[in-house]
Amino acid sequence: MILGWIGANLVNYLADVLPIERKITTPKCNRCGGHLSWKFYILLASCSHCGNKPSLRHKVVLILGLFFSGLLAQFPLENLGNYSALLWLIYFSLVTVIDLEHRLILHPVSLSGAVLGLIYGSALHGYLPTLLGGAAGFGMMLIFYFLGQLFVRVLSKSRGEEIEEIALGFGDVNLAGVIGLLLGWPGIIAGIFLAILIGGVVSGGFLVLQVLRKKYHAFQALPYGPFLVLSVIILFYISANI
Ligand SMILES: [Zn+2]
Repeated sequence: MILGWIGANLVNYLADVLPIERKITTPKCNRCGGHLSWKFYILLASCSHCGNKPSLRHKVVLILGLFFSGLLAQFPLENLGNYSALLWLIYFSLVTVIDLEHRLILHPVSLSGAVLGLIYGSALHGYLPTLLGGAAGFGMMLIFYFLGQLFVRVLSKSRGEEIEEIALGFGDVNLAGVIGLLLGWPGIIAGIFLAILIGGVVSGGFLVLQVLRKKYHAFQALPYGPFLVLSVIILFYISANI
């Protein structure tokens, strides 16, 4: 739980700094630009310069961090080990938060994920299934990515207007590659399938909600990253318990 708290703070800090500064540096207040102290994260204290409070995301990440580390303590993941599971949880939370807030997956973040995926994948399944899984995850998402682009292009032509929305970001392709390394071959097939299933259910529900509220827009793409991450967590729990 303490490690979960520290991990969640690390996620909050990196999610504040990386998308803006593109490097590890002192965090700045998003209102006054003054430097933030560690108390802003650990104790959820206000900015000492302007009194700006930590955002809802800071609190949600902390609560989820406590929840998931508590869950891990109750139901340990034997195939991965709890410290490793926590490390992956931090990584995936960071990717998800940045994806949701900025619709962005940063290349250094993807790259460190690939290194992590290679190390863990090889330990879990051996080199070949790991590399194959990574290639399959990356390749399958890449196909979806191009199909999505094609779809948008055809549609914008038939409507005679530009559609700026992208169906799937390239960051999702990178993430699928990292997850492919971790799950290996053929696990990645189940991973992608489950992510599409969850994504379909959630966007279906989202659509119904919008139709009910009469705010329907044909193109409100949901980021796929969170669904990929959720499907990995589910698969690890399933495979640990059979
Ligand atoms: Zn401030």
